[in-house]
Amino acid sequence: MDLRPNSDEARDIAYHFHSYTNPRVHEEQGPLIMDRGEGIYVFDTQGNRYIEGMSGLWSVAVGFHEQRLIDAATQQMAKLPYYHNFAHRSHGPAIDLAEKLIGMAPVPMSKVFFTNSGSEANDTILKMLWYRSNALGKPEKKKVISRIRGYHGVTVASASMTGLPYNHKSFDLPIDGILHTTCPHYWREGRDGESEEDFATRCAEDLDAMIQSEGPDTIAAFIAEPLMGAGGVVVPPVTYWEKIQAVLGKYDILLIADEVICGFGRTGKMFGSETFDIRPDIMTLSKQITSSYFPFSAFMMTEEVYAPIADEAGRIGVLGHGYTGGAHPVGAAVALENLKIIEERDLVANAAERGAELQAGLRGFAGHPHVGEARGVGLIGALEIVAPEGREEGFNPGQLGAAMNKHFLKNGLISRAMMDAMAFCPPLIITAAQVRDILTAVEQSLEGFAAEMQ
Ligand code: PLP
Repeated sequence: MDLRPNSDEARDIAYHFHSYTNPRVHEEQGPLIMDRGEGIYVFDTQGNRYIEGMSGLWSVAVGFHEQRLIDAATQQMAKLPYYHNFAHRSHGPAIDLAEKLIGMAPVPMSKVFFTNSGSEANDTILKMLWYRSNALGKPEKKKVISRIRGYHGVTVASASMTGLPYNHKSFDLPIDGILHTTCPHYWREGRDGESEEDFATRCAEDLDAMIQSEGPDTIAAFIAEPLMGAGGVVVPPVTYWEKIQAVLGKYDILLIADEVICGFGRTGKMFGSETFDIRPDIMTLSKQITSSYFPFSAFMMTEEVYAPIADEAGRIGVLGHGYTGGAHPVGAAVALENLKIIEERDLVANAAERGAELQAGLRGFAGHPHVGEARGVGLIGALEIVAPEGREEGFNPGQLGAAMNKHFLKNGLISRAMMDAMAFCPPLIITAAQVRDILTAVEQSLEGFAAEMQ
């Protein structure tokens, strides 16, 4: 690492407080500084090329240098660089995008509300649910059930819905009224002799028991990713969603599908809700909506969700909620062009086809002594890295993932360690040859890792 006082590395250490980083390790180790992108690749300042096997943060669907998105942003910047939707104001890109999203929804949706990040969208949804329950004269119906290892963001409310320890510890979270039910990870949570379907039944029974013990009239909604992403790429067990939805239906509890990772093709269908036959009342959208070229998010809701909120705001005189950057015209223009590209190039079908190749390749590593489980759907997958047999006790959680990550980087592949699971989530534009390149890099990395563990 270049540690001359004026180097980028030294200035990064001196001034830049990083997200999701151990600051004390960073002070010693310094940053990996990216310089430019091209297709599925990014290049660091030393000129090293990496396959961006995570699409940045599960988000760059169309790759790292899409001229059409650059042009869409530039043209909108030149025409109307900023406007808002407060006080009855609107603009073309917001109107076009709202109509487009409602048209794409897998179930009939009524309205779109625009926000700037996944966290902000989920935070806003919680506020809207509270508002709606008050509107309906059910002020006790405010709690939300999420899942252990679910990921819904990092604001006070969305971090509370997130079910991961490091998002709560020392932040004094979760706030009251947010509950976490069983994580549907069969490989980790399934009991001896329990079939996958029986495990799904148990997950639904756990949810039912939580609702009963809290009081069904106190629960406003259940929030979940169709397929858990940041919690470790957890594919729901067979029959899970059918059983969960039956429980929610019994108690009149709304279902929020957090499609922030799954949305716009990731699982091989346009939405994860389609892949897993989910009928949500609210959908959270972000990341691939603009391929992350612009910070942007939204949520859609059914008329049944919207109407009481609109009535209440009508009574009060105004909806007391909105963000300066919400429905940003540049973000909306980029989103429209990005969705056009996804449709024109049939990137959803590509995700299904290349996804099948990626999944078959990952499953091929399942017999490797350091792979506990290979899992995933479409272009999102993971390998669970395990310790050498008999030495399981010698490793702290996350240590194997961190060690594995170094081998991936050495082999030119960016993955992400979620504890000891290594995630793969490449851009939707990936080709068959590039999927093979990822699998070759994984194979070489596993060999290097095994040698290190000897
Ligand atoms: N929801 C899901 C499913 C996510 O994966 C994420 C981020 O990874 C979020 C919400 C939060 O999004 P943001 O980081 O834009 O706040």
